[in-house]
Amino acid sequence: MEVLILGAGVIGVTTAYELVNDGYQVTVIDRQSKPAMETSFGNAGLISPGHSFAWTTPKLPGNLMKSLFQKQRVFRFKLHWCPGLIRWGFNFIRHCTSENMRINTARKLRLCSFSQEKLHELIQETRLEYDQNKKGLIYIYRSDEALNEGIKKLKLLQPIMDKLDLLNTDDLIKIEPALDHLKSRIAGGIYCNTDESGNCHKFTQKLAKLCLEKGVKFQFDETITRLETKRGKVQKVITNKNEYTADVYVLALASHSTFFARKLGDYLPIYPVKGYSITLPIVDFSKAPVHGGIDEDNLLAFSLMANSIRFTSVAEIAGYDTSHKPSDFSYMVDLADSLFPDALDFTNIKYWAGLRPMTPNGSPIFGNGKMKNLFYNTGHGHLGWTMACGSAKITADLITGRKPNIDLEGMLLN
Ligand SMILES: Cc1cc2nc3c(=O)[nH]c(=O)nc-3n(C[C@H](O)[C@H](O)[C@H](O)COP(=O)(O)OP(=O)(O)OC[C@H]3O[C@@H](n4cnc5c(N)ncnc54)[C@H](O)[C@@H]3O)c2cc1C
Repeated sequence: MEVLILGAGVIGVTTAYELVNDGYQVTVIDRQSKPAMETSFGNAGLISPGHSFAWTTPKLPGNLMKSLFQKQRVFRFKLHWCPGLIRWGFNFIRHCTSENMRINTARKLRLCSFSQEKLHELIQETRLEYDQNKKGLIYIYRSDEALNEGIKKLKLLQPIMDKLDLLNTDDLIKIEPALDHLKSRIAGGIYCNTDESGNCHKFTQKLAKLCLEKGVKFQFDETITRLETKRGKVQKVITNKNEYTADVYVLALASHSTFFARKLGDYLPIYPVKGYSITLPIVDFSKAPVHGGIDEDNLLAFSLMANSIRFTSVAEIAGYDTSHKPSDFSYMVDLADSLFPDALDFTNIKYWAGLRPMTPNGSPIFGNGKMKNLFYNTGHGHLGWTMACGSAKITADLITGRKPNIDLEGMLLN
């Protein structure tokens, strides 16, 4: 049976790996010249079930309102016209209640934990190297107020409570001495010893190479323009260069999935939320952190990538534009300097911006819509790297007719 996967990000490539192992003939199409050149390129690299909190908190609407009138550092809104934004925006705000936050976090945690298990199985099988750091992640709180909020939120992660340690400042600095200089300005931290990090771009490229060796075909530099349908099924995928037919199709185009779904009669509640990253070479390892983590008061994530540290931040609603200018990053550069001064080469920064394919409930979308032979695996938001291997297994199960390992409540289109 032939499967055509649309999109060669971490989601498309992990799905190709599952399906080729299940015996399918798999082809993957992408407009870029290599795998993982868009959202999966420059993310923070955190594999973080221990931080699978829903973004839609009761406080978020207030923060978003402020971003309309004040220059915000983390939440930013750029006025633009996009028909999809209003419907998605109302839906997103509707999720900002304590009850929805509890339900959405539990669902995300279920997928993230399952996905981490699948990642470990994949690594066991393949021995892929992608700058893994399995020392755990630290969640740093600078103010008492933020720490108390963090402690309150912990109960939402009940199923993995035994993996989360609440640390006072001294204990936090004992496990992460690079923070010693901030001692008087840190209130405490939470350490999740099973969370980890790694380079998503490197992982996806290496996995794609393995897929190729197993017989998966990759068609790069081809832009998908149209899907042709007949009697409730996709018949053909048209690109700027070729036409493709298959028995089954998987749509994994992140934020761009919505345009194709709409033409098939399906509404996908996905909108791009732009984020930024900077990657800096380490010049003094004695002053660099050994863990990845999050500076919670400033919503700045960081992780070690070989001899560099990557920092990511900002949630900007600005449409599909991924362009950036130096001033977009100045907030993050200052914070990186405040966290790890003297550890990094600030004259040699790599800048990047990408679009998180966000759904209002923070979980991706699986299953079929109107077309019986097209499966969605898209909308992984800010945790697509964490959720990738589990989402690939779920998609392969749905295609094959097996019962997925976890409850998909709230993650199926129909
Ligand atoms: C700043 C930032 C930090 C993040 N940090 C983390 C983190 O620490 N941990 C975590 O788990 N997740 C993180 N994420 C989220 C994660 O990166 C994404 O959820 C994930 O990469 C989505 O993967 P994808 O394969 O769906 O998308 P993509 O990687 O964007 O893949 C989609 C592919 O579709 C292709 N495509 C699109 N349109 C077309 C077309 N018309 N024709 C052909 N090809 C097309 C693109 O070229 C692309 O390769 C972060 C995201 C951002 C932006």
